[in-house]
Amino acid sequence: MNVDFVFIDWIQAIRHPQQKTYYSLEDVLTNVRFWHQKMCSPYSIFYIFVLLCTLSIHPLRSCDVNILKEAMAIKRAEIEMKQIGKQFSNQGKPREWLGKENGIRCLVQGITYQNYIKGKVINDEAANYYLVVLTGTIHPPNTYRQHGSLKLYVEGNTDVQVKVPFCPFKTGENLVGSKYAGFRVEFVLAFTAQLGFEAYNVKLLKKSTCKSGEAQVEIVSVESHKVCRCKEMVENEFPYNTANRPKAEENQNE
Ligand SMILES: [Zn+2]
Repeated sequence: MNVDFVFIDWIQAIRHPQQKTYYSLEDVLTNVRFWHQKMCSPYSIFYIFVLLCTLSIHPLRSCDVNILKEAMAIKRAEIEMKQIGKQFSNQGKPREWLGKENGIRCLVQGITYQNYIKGKVINDEAANYYLVVLTGTIHPPNTYRQHGSLKLYVEGNTDVQVKVPFCPFKTGENLVGSKYAGFRVEFVLAFTAQLGFEAYNVKLLKKSTCKSGEAQVEIVSVESHKVCRCKEMVENEFPYNTANRPKAEENQNE
């Protein structure tokens, strides 16, 4: 019996729609740490990283900087240096998505959207509502077509720099080139064995104008409105619509 698969099956079972018990991320992390102590396998490392990351960056939680630091240390030491992804099949494919629900259900299985992915864009409207939309800034110089990175914004985190890889030419708006460096963007997060995590659905973050003044307020595409600093409700002038779907990509290969 392969212990790794016992734990992987367990992580699937506890978030199954028919599962009535609520499993918090903390409880799952305790079990995954136990798994890791016994096995120290690429799979246990991957899931420790996913859980620590989720615990520290999920918008329903307040950021615990120490947990975020531990997650980033694992990413550097295990995922990047030891390249544990090589021991997975399809290491570049999303294995989990960061979703909006509470507890372990906020991890959405990678295969959920596999038939809707074109480039690094999920062509499924539902994904925009079930997955967490994060924000960040395109890291300079942004001169490569394939390899870019986003500085993730996490409320309450001023200590740890979190860079999320993205593929500039596989975005709907083709965000290739230094002219986009420093631009604010929104995106959803995929966890992959190869990179730890990667941004999908990267889009320029739009600003809407507050009626009470000249203030420009950033509102992610899936939100219809947001409260301005002046307490005024600002309507999203650029709500998500299917007309923004990306054009066919020239190269679909990884
Ligand atoms: Zn205002």
